[in-house]
Amino acid sequence: MLKRKFGWTGVEIPVIGQGTWMIEGSSSQRRRGVDALRLGLDLGMTHIDTAEMYGSGIVEEEIVAEAIEGRRDEVFLVSKVLPSNASYEGTIRACEQSLRRLKTDWLDLYLLHWPGAYPIAQTMHAMEKLVSDGKLRFIGVSNFCLEELKAAEEALSTQRLACNQVLYHLSDRAIELHLLQYCTEQGIAVVGYSPFGHGNFPSPRSSAGQVLEEIAKQHGRTSRQVALNFLTRHPNTFTIPKARRFKHVRENSEAAGWTLTDKDLAAIENAFPVPKDDTPLNMI
Ligand code: NAP
Repeated sequence: MLKRKFGWTGVEIPVIGQGTWMIEGSSSQRRRGVDALRLGLDLGMTHIDTAEMYGSGIVEEEIVAEAIEGRRDEVFLVSKVLPSNASYEGTIRACEQSLRRLKTDWLDLYLLHWPGAYPIAQTMHAMEKLVSDGKLRFIGVSNFCLEELKAAEEALSTQRLACNQVLYHLSDRAIELHLLQYCTEQGIAVVGYSPFGHGNFPSPRSSAGQVLEEIAKQHGRTSRQVALNFLTRHPNTFTIPKARRFKHVRENSEAAGWTLTDKDLAAIENAFPVPKDDTPLNMI
């Protein structure tokens, strides 16, 4: 699995990680979720993204905790605090609850899930305290536009933002307008979420879908692999597809470490253009 430096932190992590939103499914599917994540770890997708919100704690407690049991040191573990919990005290409490559910003493990265009503300084200062207490390695945000990101940076006094996790798939490339460039200049890693549009991937029957199919055929790959490869072509981007099916986990793990040609890139640019300049950052 191709790895790259996670922004200014210098920590090398795989360009393709694993999402966990809605991985819980029914109770019989939970075991499958655990096994899928463990297979992903075996294949090098050691960046696991979760959140207190996912399954109201069930994903952390019953799926991720079990998947990482006995192999915590291999994993770059990320969780998120809900904006409604993100007061100073609430952030500390939420983090401690996530640690308890995940059965670990530390998170590699903790994110504010999206901008909320609490002043950003409260959340950032709580996260700084959690770093100084050894409960977090790095802190970051999610779904922050440029202005919000700058405000979060200004609110910090002892730490730097390590990450902005944002929506990024072929049909939503708004981050390429300004945000990606700013984050790269600041050494803030950009993790793109919902790389398959949260289950809304271009149909092979559509003309844009056919462009992907054609490129995939030439490389002996699949359209999904072409998409993930394209979404991680920039040296400051990472992606976190969610997959419960083993076939999907394997397919995703083989999406990096090979290169799309200039002709391929131009064809994808044409089929899935960057939106016009004033397009806001979307959330799924
Ligand atoms: P996604 O990864 O875009 O799509 C997931 C869907 O794609 C699932 O139905 C999955 O099926 C399917 N899939 C995965 N690999 C496939 C493959 N190789 N071929 C065909 N289908 C495949 O959706 P997402 O879960 O919204 O996004 C990924 C992760 O990003 C989340 O799980 C979460 O960790 C994170 N996220 C963060 C935010 C945020 O606000 N920060 C928001 C949304 C998501 P199976 O599961 O059946 O294999």
